[in-house]
Order: sequence, then structure tokens, then C-alpha cells
Amino acid sequence: FVVLDHVNKHFGELHVLKDVDLTIGEGEVVVVIGPSGSGKSTLCRAINRLETIESGTITLDGAPLPAEGKELAQLRADVGMVFQSFNLFAHKTIRENVTLGPIKVRGLARAEADKRADELLERVGVQAQADKYPAQLSGGQQQRVAIARALAMDPKVMLFDEPTSALDPEMINEVLDVMTSLAKSGMTMIVVTHEMGFARRAADRVVFMADGQIVEQATPEEFFTKPTSDRAKDFLSKIL
Ligand code: ATP
Ligand code: MG
Repeated sequence: FVVLDHVNKHFGELHVLKDVDLTIGEGEVVVVIGPSGSGKSTLCRAINRLETIESGTITLDGAPLPAEGKELAQLRADVGMVFQSFNLFAHKTIRENVTLGPIKVRGLARAEADKRADELLERVGVQAQADKYPAQLSGGQQQRVAIARALAMDPKVMLFDEPTSALDPEMINEVLDVMTSLAKSGMTMIVVTHEMGFARRAADRVVFMADGQIVEQATPEEFFTKPTSDRAKDFLSKIL
């Protein structure tokens, strides 16, 4: 469904994605882990073309990623992205944050967009905050709004890049719970996270990256109990 084939990317001299092959099936939930600087964010950013790649191909739902124009805007709508920082529009209400994309990009009528926004806000548990502004919400609530905003575009795949690492500990679980229920609902997801509990609970597959390469991939059960590479063993010994 999402297919990366021999993908290469440099930043100057630095080879950050080295011939990466990765296939993610429709409805599959893949957790990407690995040391800092291993290329996890670059991988995510390449999938919605926030980064260009130098060689190889990336396809989504059978079609290569478009380079520009309307098709690129469409791609960004099809690939929902949630970052570490919530990036909500500060001067728009929570509801407006969620309706903006559907109205502008998907051409939804305001009334319909509002209705759908309220459903999504309900689903992530922040419906009561719909008329407030982002600064009036906790970090965990803002991140759940960011998830609702991405879902409002009806994406084909959702990318999460360390969505909980900027949150206070007591807010992490409320965001992970929303992500877990999304995973169970059949959404195709790529999740970069250090939350191994989430990986165990929600991932179909764990992909371990180091130095721009996929070193190892397995089910969470296999990966956490029997990692095969020294890099993975070393990494796990530091975080578990
Ligand atoms: P972290 O766990 O710290 O988020 P990561 O696995 O997400 O790390 P990336 O952000 O993908 O790693 O970065 C991979 C490498 O590319 C790093 O060495 C980083 O310094 C470098 N890099 C990332 N973005 C750029 C950029 N825009 N220009 C130059 N180098 C970059
Ligand atoms: Mg990163």
C-alpha cells in the first residue's frame, strides 16, 4: 500500500536513507524505532514529500508520489502527519483547526465540515473544547486535536513522528490511547516512537533503523524478545 523501493537520500555528505526498501500493507501498523539520527524522521518526511529523494521510488496506493501542484496538495491530504510539536493554528478555534483543510482542500461545505469535525473531536475526547483556542488546551489535548485534524482529511495513511515526546508524562497515555484505537480501527499507520508499550499493544510490525538503513524488522513479540542484530540488542538494552 505504501511501498519504498531502493530509496536514497543525502544531506550533503551524509547518506541518511541508504537504499531503503519497505512495504506497508493496507491497514498495517508499523512502529519505527532506532537511535537518534538514524533517519526515522527523514523517512516519514519523504513519504509526504516534505523531503525529496534522490533515487528509488515511493508509491502510495499504487501511484508514485506527485512532485508538485494540485497533486502534491492532494498527497499531503492523503498522508496525515502528526509531529512532536502540535502545530495547530493559534488564531483559529479547535473546530476551525479541524475544518480548515476539508473546506479548502477537499471542498466540503462548512456545515458538513463542522459536523464531521465535531464527530472527530468527540472520538479523540476533546469535543467540549471545540470553541476554545489551542493555547487554552493542555499539550495532550492539543495533540489529540492534531490527530483529529489529520483524520478530517480522510487520509489513506497516518504518519506519527514522536507524537508524545514533547508531552508531560501524565498526558502521554491519553494520546497513545487515541492512537491505539485508531490502529484497531484499521488505519494504515507509520509511527516513530520510543513508547514500547504502544508498539507491543498496537504494532503489527516493528522496524528498527540505524545509520539510514533498516537493520531488522519483526513482530513486536519477536523483536522485543529475540532481536537478532547487535545494533538492535544494544539499542533495546538502553531503552528497556
Ligand atoms: P531523532 O531520533 O533524533 O529524531 P531521526 O532518526 O529522526 O533522529 P533524522 O531527523 O531523520 O533522524 O535525521 C537523520 C540525519 O540527517 C541526522 O544526522 C540529521 O542530523 C540529518 N538531517 C536531518 N535533517 C537535515 C537537514 N534538513 N539538513 C541537514 N541534515 C539533516
Ligand atoms: Mg526524528
